[in-house]
Amino acid sequence: MARDLAIDLGTANTLVYAKQRGILFAEPTVLALNKETGAVLAMGEEAWRMIGRTPGYIVAVRPLRSGAISDFDITEKLIRLILQKAGVSWWGRPKVLVCVPSALTDVERRAVEEATLSAGARSCHLIEEPIAAAIGAGLPIHEPMGSLVVDVGGGTSEVALISMGGIVTNTAVRVGGFDLDSAIQNFVRREYTIAIGERTAERIKISIGSAFPMAHEKQAELRGRDLASGMPKNIIITSEEIREGINENVRSVVAAVIECLGSSPPDLVQDVLSNGITLTGGGGMLSGFDVLLSQEAEVPVHMTDQPLESVVLGAGKCLEAFESLKSIFVDA
Ligand code: ADP
Ligand code: MG
Repeated sequence: MARDLAIDLGTANTLVYAKQRGILFAEPTVLALNKETGAVLAMGEEAWRMIGRTPGYIVAVRPLRSGAISDFDITEKLIRLILQKAGVSWWGRPKVLVCVPSALTDVERRAVEEATLSAGARSCHLIEEPIAAAIGAGLPIHEPMGSLVVDVGGGTSEVALISMGGIVTNTAVRVGGFDLDSAIQNFVRREYTIAIGERTAERIKISIGSAFPMAHEKQAELRGRDLASGMPKNIIITSEEIREGINENVRSVVAAVIECLGSSPPDLVQDVLSNGITLTGGGGMLSGFDVLLSQEAEVPVHMTDQPLESVVLGAGKCLEAFESLKSIFVDA
């Protein structure tokens, strides 16, 4: 018998949990694709490595970047590669629990389920990411009490108010860490007329980016390509400048939280006011984001211990206690 698996198919990172073993791997949700034949060659770190060493028609794609399942074949190949990496074979097909964004349509949910089955799973169940994150964070989701989970990912941010094991209200915006990276690229292009790559922008965001004024502002040296001369050029950029560059995107995530609170039943909002907001997801790790959110929403904010893993760990808990928790799955 194969071990049951839980998969968090994030816009930025894919994590896999195996029953009774824990997290097997975490890889970027990136595929190496042959543009000419459409063949999917590799996923994750292996895909990044391949891009550097192969001809120009092999490109990197982020198939779930916008949070939606837009291409069935590619999704199926992605899941097939994930199952392969997890050591799944046809004579030991596992039960698979897939974490999906709560904003996914029924058609998309069915597509994920079909893709998972056709990629080699024995059976497939779906769980909504905010619920999984809440379980991963140890929130009392089955009680008649409101818990607000804010999950800032790469391509999307999801806000969900959970009570009695279900989502009562939720707001999702297609803004996340990737958008902060491109805002930084645009900022240096506009202010310094240099071009930098996505991954350089992400590095700067993680090292000196912030959502709230810092006690000690930082600066960093940045190497880009001068747009006029085409030559490499170094500049010094400050944390204040980065904050200005990403401000609009950061504000739209905060606005989604306020909107969700505004459309939720008052009694449950009262619970959130006293218990606080649970912040998770890699994008939520942006320095000072918790402080800004807490100030703007006027609610205390608690960051989860493992923001990158909370979703898959929550789904893993569901695998370990499958019979008692299966009522919360949202099978298509
Ligand atoms: P998803 O669930 O959509 O795959 P993740 O929760 O894995 O997304 O988060 C990925 C995002 O988190 C990326 O955009 C990445 O740049 C961002 N991120 C990771 N660590 C940090 C950090 N320390 N500060 C700011 N952003 C971060
Ligand atoms: Mg996620």
